[in-house]
Amino acid sequence: MSHKYEGGCEHVHTHADNEPIDNHTCHCSVCKSVTTQPTTHVVFFNHGDLHVDNPGHMNRQPFNANNPDGPLELCTCATCGTPIMLDDKQSRIRAIVPNLMGYDPASLPATYHAFYDPATGVPRPSDGRPVHEGLRPEFTWPAGS
Ligand SMILES: [Zn+2]
Ligand SMILES: [Zn+2]
Repeated sequence: MSHKYEGGCEHVHTHADNEPIDNHTCHCSVCKSVTTQPTTHVVFFNHGDLHVDNPGHMNRQPFNANNPDGPLELCTCATCGTPIMLDDKQSRIRAIVPNLMGYDPASLPATYHAFYDPATGVPRPSDGRPVHEGLRPEFTWPAGS
């Protein structure tokens, strides 16, 4: 059975059949340190919309090593170490980084820049997409469970 969006590694598969609720190019320092990419394409799904076929086969670690009690956990495959998703302890969202988590980035284009901080000295993005210093102001977190 095929799904609208599919990713993961050869041991743990994820999929979604509904559209994401947010899709941005992240400039934050946590993404930088976790992915070692200058910016990170991050896609948020409603928690119930991103499904994992083998959840017991993942290791969980704090997404932000400097904030181990924070809500987001980075889930990685217990066999091959591939990052699978970010899971939210409050069950509001699940997030993926398409190019690292087995998804096709072109099928999920980011609509804006998030957490851009001019103090980093990085030139302001000029690709025409909106630039925000946090998430887009109209984004609201789904209720958790
Ligand atoms: Zn980030
Ligand atoms: Zn794997």
